[in-house]
Amino acid sequence: LGPTICVGEILVEIMATSVGEGFLAPMDLAGPYPSGAPAIFIDQCAKIGGSAAMIGAVGRDDFGRLNLDRLAADGADISAIAVDPDYPTGSAFVRYRADGARDFVYNIATSAAARLGWTDRVADLVGRAGHLHVMGSALSMPGAARVIERAAEVVKRRGGTISVDPNLRKELAHDAATGRLFSDLVGICDLLLPSGDELDHAAGAAGTDAALARLFDRGVKEVALKQGRAGATVFAPGCPPQHAPAFAVTELDPTGAGDCFGGAYVACRRLGMAVPVALTYATAAGARTVMRRGPMEGAATRAELDAFIAATPRIAP
Ligand code: ADP
Repeated sequence: LGPTICVGEILVEIMATSVGEGFLAPMDLAGPYPSGAPAIFIDQCAKIGGSAAMIGAVGRDDFGRLNLDRLAADGADISAIAVDPDYPTGSAFVRYRADGARDFVYNIATSAAARLGWTDRVADLVGRAGHLHVMGSALSMPGAARVIERAAEVVKRRGGTISVDPNLRKELAHDAATGRLFSDLVGICDLLLPSGDELDHAAGAAGTDAALARLFDRGVKEVALKQGRAGATVFAPGCPPQHAPAFAVTELDPTGAGDCFGGAYVACRRLGMAVPVALTYATAAGARTVMRRGPMEGAATRAELDAFIAATPRIAP
């Protein structure tokens, strides 16, 4: 029916190589790495072999070039990414604390990403898209939120499908209007990909059973729950849950795991794979991501995932 599209922030990530709190003294940093949850999702989608296209904006600078070159090299359609002559590509500095929490310094609100809007190229792409993936993080940018709202209408009208990853970031403000839009999108989505307590939050109900019942009542057809080192479980109305344990790997950098999981899962399902097959690829994509520093560095082709799956044991339940 047409490509999978995703709208939102394209960034570089620059990360501290030492564990600790904040950025109040000089330190060694690694990066820039291509990043932004929607971009990571689309990159993994494209690498699997599904037709995938990104809607976003970068500055006319090296950080933008880095992202455009990576996405294009990995097979994503970048024709609807605007290059803003006046504003820089967004950036996120991240440092991990000993307990796994992260400190961020974001430059998104004053970056090209925040000036993302509806253009002729966006209209052309949305008009032929078969699937829209919504990243909750993108909804905190008013320009992106409007594009997503309009794209959802167009894609739904032409019989396409929608997936939503709540991807809630406490660092990025969410006001009441954003909350309403998020809830509306959950109500029209076919597939929800929450992690942890995002399931309850997206459903507006407490506890897995109540949350799933509420979501299925609202018309959601499939929920892929991401459970970190516990793997992932897919729920669908009237079907027994289907679980995949995680692969046994050493975690170096957890950023991007959920985005790569989602990119692989959506791409595989759209290619017609059954839930257990898609789950295997998606948990493999998530595991490869946490093994590497940089959020997009673990994104993998189907052949790379096949090799990884054959060589890597699962964590025993
Ligand atoms: P999110 O990043 O959205 O919070 P998760 O942390 O659950 O999502 O990661 C997504 C998927 O990546 C998980 O379902 C799991 O399959 C895989 N994954 C995440 N962390 C690990 C890990 N430490 N070891 C192996 N696989 C992992």
